[in-house]
Amino acid sequence: MTRQQLLQRLGLTAALAVMVPLVFLGCVGKPDPTKDPIWPADHKGPKVVVSFAPLYCFAVNVAGDDAVVRNVMTTTGPHDFNPSANDVKLVTQADLFLTMGLELDERQAEMMKTGSGNDKLKVVTLGNLVPAKSLCEGYCTHQNHAHNHKHPPDPHLWLSPDHSILLVNLIRDELKKADPAHAAGYDSRAATYVKKLEALKAEGVALLKDKKEKRVVTFHDSLAYFEKSFDVEIRGVLTVKPGQEPDEKAMKTLINVCGDETKPTRVIAVEPQYSTSTSGETLKKELTAKGVKDVVLVEFDTLETVKPDDLTPDWYERKMRANLKALADALK
Ligand SMILES: [Zn+2]
Repeated sequence: MTRQQLLQRLGLTAALAVMVPLVFLGCVGKPDPTKDPIWPADHKGPKVVVSFAPLYCFAVNVAGDDAVVRNVMTTTGPHDFNPSANDVKLVTQADLFLTMGLELDERQAEMMKTGSGNDKLKVVTLGNLVPAKSLCEGYCTHQNHAHNHKHPPDPHLWLSPDHSILLVNLIRDELKKADPAHAAGYDSRAATYVKKLEALKAEGVALLKDKKEKRVVTFHDSLAYFEKSFDVEIRGVLTVKPGQEPDEKAMKTLINVCGDETKPTRVIAVEPQYSTSTSGETLKKELTAKGVKDVVLVEFDTLETVKPDDLTPDWYERKMRANLKALADALK
């Protein structure tokens, strides 16, 4: 797609695009603390854009005062997001664009780069830099056939503090490359933040360690890394991508897996972003009818969306603690 086509798609004509800086100075709409003002005029450090909230927390904790970090996606997460003209504006002056990749957000990042005309922008796809052995396959939703093929990697690395540490260290290295004069600062802040993530992991492990029954159904296919870090057992997923309800066959499979008499699954994770979804309720009803006792829906936020004014540097830790507590309260 050419820049012009893209701008048209974004609802801008080429002429308007030239006026973008003027429009920006007018600055209409509710201010968003993570985006507004876009870039402080007197800051000399790297201008860093991240695609969504967990990456914002990771980057801003490493950046300190040496780099400026701005976040793109807020109330619409990477599975559904399409960049607006405002989002494109955000990257016109940026130096670095940190994305998760693994087919989650790189398409939108490339659209924004093309639309911005900022050829110097370095788009970093973190998922491609994580050692392949650290990646987990997505959940298999077709359990009836022979397993001689691979599934694409699950992109939700941030839901495990262990994998988040890998991401934080990769971000540290990118910031050091962009701003070698402040390498020592990036190193020390990354080390401090990694300690916090290690503490978060230890807390979660302690909360879950005495649970006898750690079987969970997740709402969307997102917990491969969480499963690994916290030794829970993901028995099924309601939907591969959020927003799509499971078909009859998928629901039947889930009911069979979770209704297994020797290993019943009674904890169903649902996401606050999709509270209108009925599939969790349907599964609960079916399992209860099958004789599974105490089936519960638990709110587990996959941290793909954020209320803009809630996005503080400690947001990731706060939300993960809430997830771990909710799960620990539901598991026996
Ligand atoms: Zn997801």
